[in-house]
Amino acid sequence: MGDACHKMLPNAGRGTVNAMLDAIILANSLYEIAKDATYSNIRSAFEEYYNERFPKAKADLESSKRIASLNSGQTWMDDIMRKVTLNFMPSSVINMSFMKTLAYRPQASFLPKVEYRGSGRVDPQKESKRYLQEKVTTV
Ligand SMILES: Cc1cc2nc3c(=O)[nH]c(=O)nc-3n(C[C@H](O)[C@H](O)[C@H](O)COP(=O)(O)OP(=O)(O)OC[C@H]3O[C@@H](n4cnc5c(N)ncnc54)[C@H](O)[C@@H]3O)c2cc1C
Repeated sequence: MGDACHKMLPNAGRGTVNAMLDAIILANSLYEIAKDATYSNIRSAFEEYYNERFPKAKADLESSKRIASLNSGQTWMDDIMRKVTLNFMPSSVINMSFMKTLAYRPQASFLPKVEYRGSGRVDPQKESKRYLQEKVTTV
């Protein structure tokens, strides 16, 4: 996980974020099977982790490359893109892209949910079957 599998260029400021997201999703997947850690369950937990994280980490990796070219690319095309983006890109478009990225903020499913106090959209949180079950039995 983290930089060991998807080293991002620092320009997009997404490397640590992705390392932490990997850790949360892997911990969630392992928590779900921890009481029945057979070979096949461990394999499914890692597959679930991979399926959730791969497309998102790949998208951020590609975006980090685009932002690096935009910030410091040396070709004439980079130069044109930099001038167009910095001078003509409306802030609403930039904000929209931020809001989309920030909507993905999964929580540790084995802890009580953090109360929503923000203003932007949040993608639905994935519930943990084990956590809900244990909560019912302790009440
Ligand atoms: C200049 C710069 C600016 C950045 N700015 C941002 C930013 O603004 N926002 C952002 O989100 N990200 C940023 N990043 C990226 C961020 O630093 C990394 O993505 C993040 O640190 C990755 O975390 P990691 O735990 O995967 O790896 P690392 O932080 O590299 O941790 C790996 C650890 O493993 C240890 N290690 C290695 N080999 C072994 C071994 N054999 N045995 C034991 N330990 C070992 C290392 O010493 C290290 O402590 C930036 C990076 C750079 C270089």
